[in-house]
Amino acid sequence: MNVLEKLNKGSIRASDIAAQYWCERQMELNYIHGAKITAEIRKGKEMHGNLEAETNVPIVLMPRSYADAMYKGLYTSYSGLSTIGKNKKTREVQVYGSLNGFKFVGKVDQMEVMDGGVVIVEDKTRSSDRMPSESQLTTHKVQVMLYKKAMDDIQMGRYTAGTFEQSYHASKLRITWEFDRQLEALGVESQIRSVSAIAERLFSSIKSVGRISDTLYIRYINQATGNIIETHKIRYDENEMSSILDFSLKYWKGERESLPVPEKEKWKCNFCAFFGKECKVWWPQKVL
Ligand code: SF4
Repeated sequence: MNVLEKLNKGSIRASDIAAQYWCERQMELNYIHGAKITAEIRKGKEMHGNLEAETNVPIVLMPRSYADAMYKGLYTSYSGLSTIGKNKKTREVQVYGSLNGFKFVGKVDQMEVMDGGVVIVEDKTRSSDRMPSESQLTTHKVQVMLYKKAMDDIQMGRYTAGTFEQSYHASKLRITWEFDRQLEALGVESQIRSVSAIAERLFSSIKSVGRISDTLYIRYINQATGNIIETHKIRYDENEMSSILDFSLKYWKGERESLPVPEKEKWKCNFCAFFGKECKVWWPQKVL
């Protein structure tokens, strides 16, 4: 059984690779035992929803199947990107790619027209005005770099609508009759009411949106006040991206077991729901 099967997953998410840079073992345990949703995470999700509603025209679609849900993600991303020229920004853009043959998916928080190009902005909510630790910053940086890589791969033709079609067998995916009626009611043209057709539209919009800037933005927002605490800028570096993938994919290829945090980072265990239960690597009583 390969790692994806063991974790009951079909693809690697940008947030999975980011989480490997916090604690790879914890990322794995989250899939095996279920992620623990804290009040802070719930509040963060709520704020993301509010920001999306402020930027994008809300699209009410009720998917009834896997194909419907995939269509909805592709269509809402396409729809937001097709108005970026007028609105100057859009949120929640789905991006697909391949990492050494592994299916990759991510959702870019915001794309914004700035300085003659398009910038990627990732929003992270905080429970106070304190800036995140270096370790947290690293995970956020990895996530946003992966979005840039996936967008570049599409723009440069390294990942195409054809590759997507083959990986997801998109032409075999049929949206439900009820969902098709919802699309018709929204005024979606009949020729793009299939997963393959809407994927092609999304890929062409990404290709024509303009060059994605090498400067990536991470915006820290106080979840109580909604105020921006700080916007952190990162310079994209292809060599750094390659090293990140070399390290992280070793786990997905099954070349090594998931790594717990090293001793100097065992302070992270105090914030981990698995500490002393599913993971006792740094549990003080383990020697008793
Ligand atoms: S207890 Fe520590 S090493 Fe184990 S999964 Fe949690 S953070 Fe990682």
